[in-house]
Amino acid sequence: MEAINITDYGLFFPPERLVMRDRTALAVLHHTGGAPGEDPDVAAIDDAHRGLGWAGVGYHYLIRKSGAVEAGRPALAMGAHAEGANTRSIGIALCGNFCEEEPTAAQIESCAMLIAVISASFGVALDEEHIVGHRDLAATACPGDALYERLEEIIGKAVWYQGE
Ligand SMILES: [Zn+2]
Repeated sequence: MEAINITDYGLFFPPERLVMRDRTALAVLHHTGGAPGEDPDVAAIDDAHRGLGWAGVGYHYLIRKSGAVEAGRPALAMGAHAEGANTRSIGIALCGNFCEEEPTAAQIESCAMLIAVISASFGVALDEEHIVGHRDLAATACPGDALYERLEEIIGKAVWYQGE
């Protein structure tokens, strides 16, 4: 399978505030929202989420507009991204507000590669019941129509990457 390069900022999460996830049944896609064009790095989102009193960034991975993938919360820890589903899901956020702009081609490609890796690592099935948008789990516009409409394409690419 294609190798994926994940940038690790070395964010510190207080160990006593992290718990292991029960299982990993789902990958949940998010957008970062905010104003169109914004492309925050994971350290900025980590600061914002710590400001809410959280243990640190709530997502496990962040995909910048360049397609660069950045490490958020440790992959085995429970995230804080989809209330009610955090114990059984891994959270991926793409930088942008996809209610108002399109994801970049590089983001779509990196997202597919990352999902292929997550699927292989955790046994998450590559279908629309297991690779979902935040809106499938809660009353939210997240991850925006322009990303949500690409979900089938992303899953198709992930299947292809997994065969590489
Ligand atoms: Zn979301």
